[in-house]
Amino acid sequence: VEWHIYYMHAHAPDHTYHKILNDLDHSPDASLREKLAELERSFYISLDRMIGRIAEAAGEDAIIAIVSDHGACPTEPGFKGLRVNLILEKAGLLKFADEEKKVIDWSQTLAFEDRSSYIWINLKSRYPDGIVDDSDYEKVRWEVINALHSYRDPGTGKSPFAFVLRREEARLIGLHGDMIGDIVFGIYPEAPGEHGRHIASGEYSIGSMKGLLILKGPGLKRGFKLENTVNIADLVPTVCYLAKLPVPRDCEGRIIYQALEDPDMHLTELRELEERYERLEETIRVQRALTHSYE
Ligand SMILES: [Zn+2]
Ligand SMILES: [Zn+2]
Repeated sequence: VEWHIYYMHAHAPDHTYHKILNDLDHSPDASLREKLAELERSFYISLDRMIGRIAEAAGEDAIIAIVSDHGACPTEPGFKGLRVNLILEKAGLLKFADEEKKVIDWSQTLAFEDRSSYIWINLKSRYPDGIVDDSDYEKVRWEVINALHSYRDPGTGKSPFAFVLRREEARLIGLHGDMIGDIVFGIYPEAPGEHGRHIASGEYSIGSMKGLLILKGPGLKRGFKLENTVNIADLVPTVCYLAKLPVPRDCEGRIIYQALEDPDMHLTELRELEERYERLEETIRVQRALTHSYE
């Protein structure tokens, strides 16, 4: 089969870390920690073998990229869990119609989370069950911001929130437009959960939230460790640049020039072509002059 691009997603590390990371990090049972460390090693060996087989089948002239969209961190022992809607409830900004099933009573709710990193103001102008007037938008937003900033985890006494931003300020982390929440927040790597709302640069104990990027292939540096920060969105334009493909419309990333053997490869090629073209023109000119002299 002729192919140009092959891509796949391996979910094993993500799924496995949800199951084992906390025990692997700090289970009081040393033999369990050892067994889990063995399990961790074995799934990396298995993934490595799979990648090896794919790379071999792809051949030497293929560009190979191994990329992750996030890392994972264990939760600091003692953290009691983090339910943003409960924080909003305590601050009087949200009411549950059913406390047990956590069903929201929209007629008494000013703001709510959506299980991502966003908090939304229950605006009349936006939702059929909205109760907040546009004129109260800023006031309610500040109540939410203040509630998040003053919250302390009852187990550790720490604030889980690494940042709380208003939507128009979220460009700082590359977010903008109507699709993002009225308030955008990020939590510390040691706060509850293995990954999700945690800040992408976070590191805690044996974990790291940083993504992985390994590149190999023609035009790419070998044995080189990138020091600059790259974004997952940078992969596509970089591969396009190397493969001489047009960059897709709406592509947000940048070419990772630092990973390229010759960042000016296309310019170098263009200069060579220009020189050859000039020589060709010169040859044609000389030949024309010669034929003229024979006439
Ligand atoms: Zn994931
Ligand atoms: Zn996950």
